[in-house]
Order: sequence, then C-alpha cells, then structure tokens
Amino acid sequence: MQKSSYDPLHLFINGAWLAAAGRDTAAVINPATGATLGRLPLATTADLAGALETARDSFDIWRRTVPAERARVLRKAATLMRERAEHIATMLTLEEGKPLAESRDEVLRAADYFEWFAEEARRIDGRVVPANRPGVQQLVKRQPIGPVAAFTPWNFPAITPARKLAAALAAGCSIILKPGEESPATALALARCLDDAGLPKGVLQVVFGVPDRVSAQLIASPVIRKVAFTGSMPVGRLLSERAAAGVKPITLELGGHGPVLVFADADIDAAAKDGAANRFRGTGQICIASTRFLIQSDAYHRFAERFVAATRQLVIGDGMAPETQLGPLANPRQLAKMEALVADAVEQGATLLTGGKRIDRPGYFFAPTVLADVPMSARIMHEEPFGPIAVLRPFDTLEDGLAEANRLPYALSAYAFTRDARTALDVGDGLEAGMVGINQYRIVATELPFGGMKESGHGSEGGTEGIAAYLTNKFISQAHF
Ligand code: NAD
Repeated sequence: MQKSSYDPLHLFINGAWLAAAGRDTAAVINPATGATLGRLPLATTADLAGALETARDSFDIWRRTVPAERARVLRKAATLMRERAEHIATMLTLEEGKPLAESRDEVLRAADYFEWFAEEARRIDGRVVPANRPGVQQLVKRQPIGPVAAFTPWNFPAITPARKLAAALAAGCSIILKPGEESPATALALARCLDDAGLPKGVLQVVFGVPDRVSAQLIASPVIRKVAFTGSMPVGRLLSERAAAGVKPITLELGGHGPVLVFADADIDAAAKDGAANRFRGTGQICIASTRFLIQSDAYHRFAERFVAATRQLVIGDGMAPETQLGPLANPRQLAKMEALVADAVEQGATLLTGGKRIDRPGYFFAPTVLADVPMSARIMHEEPFGPIAVLRPFDTLEDGLAEANRLPYALSAYAFTRDARTALDVGDGLEAGMVGINQYRIVATELPFGGMKESGHGSEGGTEGIAAYLTNKFISQAHF
C-alpha cells in the first residue's frame, strides 16, 4: 500500500524529470517504521551547472512575462495542490512522520501562499518622485532581483518551499530549490503542480545532493543573485558567508527557543493545555515552537500539574493512524540528541516530570518530556532542542520574566499569557522576537510576515512584506530633450 502512495523521486532540471540513471542516490526512510520509501537521485556537478544555465535563460523569459500571467500560473498551481492534497499529504506523512491531518493542513496552507502571492504579483508598483530640477522625470521601479537559490528543511516540506517559491515566482524570478533530502517527494509534488499549471520550462528547478556541495556551487555562481535558507543557525551562518562573498542578499529563517511568559493572572489551565499541544506539535520539530515555559511563581505548581496531565494524554504513533497526535522524530541523530539533553538537565538538578526516554518500537520515537526547575547551567537552557522536550521555570516580576525570555540569541517566536492589558502591552513591546503571540499560540498566517530577529535570521516571508526580498529597486531619472 505504502509503495503506490509514494511517487518515484526525480531531479527537475530544465523542464525534465530526471531519474537516477547512473547518478548517486540516497535512501528516503519512513521515520515511523524505518522502511525505505524510495531512492533519491543526487545531482552531479554537471547537473548543477546545467541548472544554473537554465536559471539564467529562464529568468529572461519569466521576468518579461506580464504579472497577470504569472498570477494565473500561481493560482492554477494552488488549485492543483488542493485537488492533489490527499496524495501529497500522504507522501508528506510517510516521509516526514507528522499526523496525516497536519500534513493535509500544511499542503492546503502551502496552496494559500501560492494564491496570496498570485495577488501580490499584480501589485508590484513603483513611484513617480517629483524632481528638484525642471524638465526631469524620476521613476522608481521595482524589478525581480534575478535567479534565486533556495534551501529548505525536512520538517515542513510543503510550507517552507511554498513561501519561497510563491514569492520568488510572483516577483518574476527564476528559482533553483534544494529541499531537505529526508522529505523530497512533497516538494517535487509542488513542483509538479507548477509544471502542470504551465510555468515555463526551467523557471523552477528542483535539485538534491550533498547539501554542502550543492550550496557551495550554486551560491558561488554569478548567475544566482539571491539566496534564501530555512534551517539551523550554523548552516545559516555558513550560507551567509558564501552569499557575502558574492555580495548577494540572503533571507534566513533559522532556529528558535520560544519563551512563554505565563503571568499568575492568566487563564492558567488554557495556557497549560494549549501549551502542551503547541510544544509537542510536530514532535517539537518546529522552529517557532514554545520551548521555555516561564511561569509566575504563584501559578507555577498549578501550571506544571495541568501541563503534565495534558502531555500524558497525547497519543504517539505512526502519522498514518487516525488517532495519532505525535509522530516520530526525523532521524536517529535527533533521538540521541534528546537523550543527551535530558540526561544533562537531570544531572544538573532538573526534575523529570514525564517522558525522558525513547519508545521501544520501530522508528524514531521519543516520549514527550517535561523537565521542571531546570537550572541555567543545563544545555537545554541554551540550545534549541528541536524535539519533544518542554522546560518549566518560575519567575517573579515582569522584568525578571522579560530578561529571561530575551536572554538567548534566538529571537524567532515568543508567547505571553495574561489578563492584564498593561502587562500585555509591556510584553508585546518588550519581547525580542519576530513573532509574538499573546493569549494564544497561533502566530502564523499567510497574510502575516514570518521571520525572526537577532540570530534567528532576517527578512520576512509571507504577508505583503514577503515579496520584497525578491525585488530590487531601480530609479530612472529622465531629462526632457
Ligand atoms: P540543518 O540546518 O543541518 O538542515 C536543515 C536543512 O538545511 C536540511 O534540509 C539540509 O539539507 C540543509 N543543509 C544542511 N547543510 C547545508 C549546507 N551546507 N548547505 C545547504 N543546505 C544545507 O538542520 P537539521 O539538523 O537537519 O535540523 C535541525 C535544525 O534545523 C534545528 O536545530 C533547527 O534550528 C533548524 N530548523 C529550523 C527551521 C526554521 O524554520 N527556522 C526549520 C527546520 C529546521
């Protein structure tokens, strides 16, 4: 059953769907079972050189394609994604592990981004600026920046490519996408929707390979004028350096260590119950996940009790099973990291309230874990776990809470719960994060900018802001004859 649900894997270069045909391949593993789903062809140096040439040539065609036509292609692709959502979602769950309902939601939200940016394509306007000299007309135009190299991770294989592809294509850029090798079929299915929607040959290309070699070759090429990356901080830093060498702008969406400030006057039960659901969604492999729960001392014990109770009710299993709320981790590396983080925290004096160990079954399962009174010396107070571990700590005053929330170089998402309007205002202003949720954990929407501050990255994806990264300004100052 699983075999027929999972498409054969290809490279998509210059409009051709290329099978392995003598190239190296990598196995794609179902993290819930350990079974091999397929083999992924890896691009050679010559493949990438060909893709770069194509990106240069197709940019010339796509940037001249009128906005209404670019919008038509993106809208049609969104329609195809919705029609194919069930099939794409099934592949997403098989290769990434998340529950099927979440995969469905992700694919539909990816389609929303294509529709949103289809509209934005028609709103790329400019300005006429009055000149300080007679007989001069000054125009400010916004033009597509050029061919893009984009790198996306395995955890959201539909949404993270969608934010980049939709914005770049709306702007008139050609784009080479390298999705995560762990979950390649989803991004390929999105590319198939764009191909079937009539995107001209070569405007979008999808490659896989040894990530470091692919990014080194693509970013060094003079063809590429813009880089976009979602992934970890160390890789983001490396790609920044590579982009800087060619003076190319880069959009970075890196990790997070989301603090949650729970004030004693808040709806503690809701903050705890929804907090557990949010912390463990995607098995904690979400960059905007809530991680550090900072609870005002008077509410600490009640919050901890409710949080642990909600955590224990979560159903863990294969994402294809309808009752599953929590799937596996992506790979054995992540399992080993969870074990090490828990062992370190407990050794430093933290209290393990629930979980803390692997689950004895095939696949990469780790029990949702709650650690209380975690000392500042513990690794997990400094490192993003990117897995199902929640940290609880008390705080006393607003100032103390904000200081701890803002302590780390991570500044992607932050949350606060309070019924006091003044406190809500102060934390809204004071939290250092690109995205802040107050009295709720839902902070992502197509119409909102998505992005971080500090070392969590820079640039916004989504919203009216999302297209700017793929446009460049040019002025034309024209004197009359
Ligand atoms: P990673 O940064 O090593 O990998 C993420 C993606 O980047 C993968 O698809 C990988 O193929 C690619 N990549 C790795 N090295 C690369 C290179 N030299 N050049 C180009 N691409 C490269 O992270 P990981 O270990 O796979 O995942 C865990 C970490 O990823 C977490 O700690 C988290 O910070 C980060 N992450 C962040 C987000 C986000 O939205 N900000 C999303 C997913 C993962």
